[in-house]
Amino acid sequence: MLVNYSLIPSDLHSEEAHRKAILRQLDSDDSRKIYFKIIRRNIDARGKNVHYVLRAEVSDTDPIRENRIQFSYKNVSDKPEVHIIGAGPCGYFAALQLIELGLKPVIIERGKDVRLRRKDLRDIQQFGKVNPDSNYCFGEGGAGTYSDGKLYTRSNKRGDINKVLQLLIDHGADPDILVDVHPHIGSNKLPAIVNRIRKTIEDHGGEVHFNARLDNFIIEQNKIIGFVTNQKQYKSDRLILATGHSARSVYQNLHAHNVLMECKPFALGVRIEHPQSIIDEIQYKQKKRNPNLPPSSYSISCQVDGKGVFSFCMCPGGLIIPAATSPGEIVVNGMSLSRRDSAFANSGMVTSVDDQDFKPYEKFGVLRGMMFQHEVEKRMFDLGDGSQKAPAQRLTDFLKGKPSFDLPATSYIPGLFPVLLNKQLSKPVESRLREGLRHFVGKMPLYLHKDSVIVATESRTSAPVKIPRHAETCMHPQISGLYPAGEGAGYAGGILSAAMDGQNVANAVYDGYIKNSGMRNYH
Ligand SMILES: Cc1cc2nc3c(=O)[nH]c(=O)nc-3n(C[C@H](O)[C@H](O)[C@H](O)COP(=O)(O)OP(=O)(O)OC[C@H]3O[C@@H](n4cnc5c(N)ncnc54)[C@H](O)[C@@H]3O)c2cc1C
Repeated sequence: MLVNYSLIPSDLHSEEAHRKAILRQLDSDDSRKIYFKIIRRNIDARGKNVHYVLRAEVSDTDPIRENRIQFSYKNVSDKPEVHIIGAGPCGYFAALQLIELGLKPVIIERGKDVRLRRKDLRDIQQFGKVNPDSNYCFGEGGAGTYSDGKLYTRSNKRGDINKVLQLLIDHGADPDILVDVHPHIGSNKLPAIVNRIRKTIEDHGGEVHFNARLDNFIIEQNKIIGFVTNQKQYKSDRLILATGHSARSVYQNLHAHNVLMECKPFALGVRIEHPQSIIDEIQYKQKKRNPNLPPSSYSISCQVDGKGVFSFCMCPGGLIIPAATSPGEIVVNGMSLSRRDSAFANSGMVTSVDDQDFKPYEKFGVLRGMMFQHEVEKRMFDLGDGSQKAPAQRLTDFLKGKPSFDLPATSYIPGLFPVLLNKQLSKPVESRLREGLRHFVGKMPLYLHKDSVIVATESRTSAPVKIPRHAETCMHPQISGLYPAGEGAGYAGGILSAAMDGQNVANAVYDGYIKNSGMRNYH
């Protein structure tokens, strides 16, 4: 049976407190013997007394059994190949799914493996040197590896969340991700998980090639017949394209081949940073956070002039990081360690941008949104000294439209320099952000803290281009054998949804293979 109950934070780690709270809910006396397992855990901070809200499976007779999916992988080294471009969550989960189905994944990744990637991240942070093939977006594990690792999607609409979560646990994630309503893994734990997933792929006959950048597609009579990397040319008639939202050269290459794509709205703005203690005070309504509560987060949104202004990818106890993928641009994002123990809370604060904003870039056709995005990032870089220092302004000054003469302490390692962002962001973006922030400050006056700072630019929120595909076959409507997938094609927004999309596309590739080969069942 399922029992809902609540606990004060200091009782969270006491098994006896859980037992008593469950028995209270069952109107039962303290001496009754029960077995229980917590299956859902959330924090309710709405009222005066912040408390945990829990759900447990309870039995009088037997310990609650683990309900785990058993994955069975066979060796696929001699099976037909499917090429996957990109070793992000979409590419890696597509690969695992193909192995389960009995097809051989061959992954082509422009970046380095998780271990070697670290050196390039250090180079960006300490020396402002951006390697265009290995950075916070490119490299093994994709954009999700050095992130906060939030796994917030709870909608099963896009696929089997449980399967993705269980695979993450099988590869080293904390089993609590199945229980917490807002689970996260942390960038100190994600690399080891990614590394183990690669080992599973390779141990079962799949291949992963690093430092291999897809530079060109080979298309004949509207059919993929191969592709060219900086290393060699491949023959391929089934290609899953999972290159993420920052692979500009891939969009350009498809455009050069006249492959059908669509310009897509996305969100753009700034990252805002506060002392974590202020966010805790707002959320928990206590001057000092109870040590049994995690650093708190927020999610806020409103409409201004008919467009959304909203917080994005909030990282409690985290760091702002330089997420540029080419030299000559400034892009910021956020990440955190599993303990989320930095003194800062940061979040994207963005507004939707669309064709109205892209007008000056019309000559670039479907790539107009991407060019708008690129120009904003370049403009912010040109304001600086050629390093990855980012332009910033105190929130108090931004709202008044006046320059900041100094800036507060920040988690952003390359450093900040003061700029009147009111003048540097495009007028519609600036005015929507200002109005939105005024609205949020009206609701949470403490949010307007003297040490809160906004940092430009948060521009890689989702892909600026959509690559269409057939709803069932997942194949591009014009190019046979091309399977656009994940965030870069416009079918995911986050680690979980990208992983689920990878699984879905792998299933579709398999179905297409069975149909074409006339076989009933391959594996
Ligand atoms: C700093 C940061 C923090 C984030 N935090 C979170 C979070 O907490 N929770 C969350 O759910 N999401 C988060 N995200 C978003 C999440 O990482 C993405 O939604 C997700 O990784 C998308 O998965 P994907 O596989 O579709 O693409 P990606 O992860 O972008 O992977 C694409 C891969 O393709 C490779 N590639 C690109 N071009 C080529 C080419 N030409 N040839 C070969 N390979 C190529 C890239 O190197 C990359 O490895 C964060 C993103 C960033 C940047």
